[in-house]
Amino acid sequence: MAGYSGITAGYLILGDRPCLVETGTATSAPVVRDALASLGVGPGDLATIVVTHIHLDHAGGVGDLAGFYPEAEIVVHEKGARHLADPSRLMASARMVWGDKLDVLFGEMSPTEAARIRALGDTGSVDLGNGRTLSSHYSPGHAKHHVGLIDSGTGDLYVGDAAGVYLPQTGDLRPATPPPDFDLRTALDSIALFEALGPQRLLFSHYGPVDDVQATLERSAEELRVWVDLTRQAHSAGMDLDHAVAMVRDRTRERYAALQADDATAEQFELLSGAPSNVAGILHWLDRAQP
Ligand SMILES: [Zn+2]
Repeated sequence: MAGYSGITAGYLILGDRPCLVETGTATSAPVVRDALASLGVGPGDLATIVVTHIHLDHAGGVGDLAGFYPEAEIVVHEKGARHLADPSRLMASARMVWGDKLDVLFGEMSPTEAARIRALGDTGSVDLGNGRTLSSHYSPGHAKHHVGLIDSGTGDLYVGDAAGVYLPQTGDLRPATPPPDFDLRTALDSIALFEALGPQRLLFSHYGPVDDVQATLERSAEELRVWVDLTRQAHSAGMDLDHAVAMVRDRTRERYAALQADDATAEQFELLSGAPSNVAGILHWLDRAQP
């Protein structure tokens, strides 16, 4: 993503019906195509492209990849489906948030033919072939169009951003609570749902697989509570966004080895889950919940 490596993960599930989970950004789409080619998956081979949610770091490449793989069905939660068919509103709001940085970070999402999109409800299923399925479970909190997906063959759970972001170099985990959808109750419910699914492994979109399921999901919930508690204090004290971010960043710094490490690691961690976006999302939720 944007020339950085180790920011956005896409996962290829090989089998009778190869399935790509997450596309990454539009600018990453050619990288993904080359990676699939190197793994023997050609233009006619990919059966499914599924995204955990429609944020541009997860689904920005859907339109381009749908073009590269004409046989692939595009699978997404029903609350996100129309934005993949017509990304104009999604792109306009992303441009308001990111400004000129949008082009460098994400690029432009291309539309996907509506007939190729399959919308998921609260639960759903992707056929991986040979009796193996990928089951989807609606998991809002980070975004209202978010699903987690568990592989019946391996017990791998694709958590998207619903369990936060994980930095493999240091084992740090930070919440992902951007505006406008963040909601604490539903976010905690989604983490509890993931626990109840009994996964063997968590596959983070940012970034990579984690084997220690129980401890990691407990950490996800704890991180959410810490960030919400601190942001609530800032909110009660009447701080503006900049002061709230500075306070929360300062009070959480010691929790993360990445911020004690070299500059590049700290920068990568901040790019994965920026304090300004997290605090803004929690403030937005607090204002909605307690106007
Ligand atoms: Zn993300």
